[in-house]
Amino acid sequence: MENLVVLGAGESGCGAAILGKKKGFNVFVSDKGTISKKSKDVLLHNNIPFEEEKHSERQILGADLVIKSPGIPDTIPLIQAIEKQGIPIIDELEFASRYYQKPIIAITGSNGKTTTTLLTSHVFKKAGKKVIVAGNIGKSLAKQVAEEIESDLAIIEISSFQLDRIEEFKPHIAILLNITPDHLDRYNDDFEQYTASKLRITKNQSDQDYLIYNIDDSAICRYLESTKTRAQLIPFSLEKREGTGAWVDNKDLIINIKTGITMSIQKLALQGKHNLYNSMAAGVASRILELRKEIIRESLNDFQNIEHRLETVTQVCGVSYINDSKATNVNSTWYALESMEEQTVWIVGGVDKGNDYDSLIPLVKDKVKAIVCLGVDNSKIHAAFGHLVEDIFDTQSMYDAVRAAYSLAKKGDSVLLSPACASFDLFENYEDRGRQFKEAAKGL
Ligand code: ADP
Repeated sequence: MENLVVLGAGESGCGAAILGKKKGFNVFVSDKGTISKKSKDVLLHNNIPFEEEKHSERQILGADLVIKSPGIPDTIPLIQAIEKQGIPIIDELEFASRYYQKPIIAITGSNGKTTTTLLTSHVFKKAGKKVIVAGNIGKSLAKQVAEEIESDLAIIEISSFQLDRIEEFKPHIAILLNITPDHLDRYNDDFEQYTASKLRITKNQSDQDYLIYNIDDSAICRYLESTKTRAQLIPFSLEKREGTGAWVDNKDLIINIKTGITMSIQKLALQGKHNLYNSMAAGVASRILELRKEIIRESLNDFQNIEHRLETVTQVCGVSYINDSKATNVNSTWYALESMEEQTVWIVGGVDKGNDYDSLIPLVKDKVKAIVCLGVDNSKIHAAFGHLVEDIFDTQSMYDAVRAAYSLAKKGDSVLLSPACASFDLFENYEDRGRQFKEAAKGL
């Protein structure tokens, strides 16, 4: 019996452990932190041995195969020791996809993965397909494969950390939304390395497969020139029409795969430039698999937006409060500011992942009347924008931040929480940050 070690006992780790056991591996789960009660119950229920708050190196080095949580950096000594022994380390999605025979649509990019994954699933579900949705959303792919859930296809959100550990993963349709600097701390501050990691999504595709990508994104285009892919390339664009599968013509979005579909941009459920890209990507994927035009049009129009992404929370004294807590990097905040039509009081800050704020300067000049910093260390925000606005305040709780924004905003303005940073200095995660914002705004 082969020994499988799973590092990290979160949703994906537990799923991998269950699938591994089912496929006849001798499974052991190891987590350096404490394991949640939910995960422990799952492991105990499945008779899978585990340890927490430590990694027993000797036992781990006895593995034939290691599945690593994408949250564990490659640089820690344990991972280096495993690699030195020549033991293969893969990701849960890689492992699960080896046992999944139906087509996969895999979606990656620096921003918009969750939105596009859910939007694409919505279209396929409305068309009557049985869809497994996995990746960072809901149940892990491995668990769903282990449960032998009936499905026509799987739609998977996949991050660069997961792509770093794929070997045979072969999506029938890969979607590459954009590549902008994020998580560079995990890629030796090297944008090229990060780009290379995203392009791995197409590595195993054949000429029967498709790569749908954003041709307006210079990093993607540059890399595609030098990277060989066998997949059929289908670009989408807001800037050009020639040779693309989807584009924008005045007030309409056009998807042109096999036949054309024209949709009014104004009617799309997801508004904002960034969401046009997401809608184009979902529409192209749906047409490749020949879903009906009317279904695509209907579902791109009636999709319910997801929490914490440019979510309008409330209006108080004529001021709109908008929750974009999921904006944890500069590019997603760029799109949020770009879509603001009113003068904006901007709540920004948190854990800076090596941000370069220059690209935001023109938008801040144009749209931001005051800044409320919300973080333990706000010095970089002051340095980047302090001279551009009259009012800039420091706060260290959501309650204070929303109160400060309230006193700065006038009728007709918006208050936008779009932090451009991670949340771990003051909050449990971005959801916690967003929820606190909503509570504070509704309590005004
Ligand atoms: P991800 O799963 O890649 O983190 P989400 O769909 O959760 O992406 O969105 C994260 C943030 O990025 C939100 O603030 C959202 O408004 C913004 N966003 C969504 N789609 C795009 C896009 N195509 N380009 C840039 N920003 C986007």
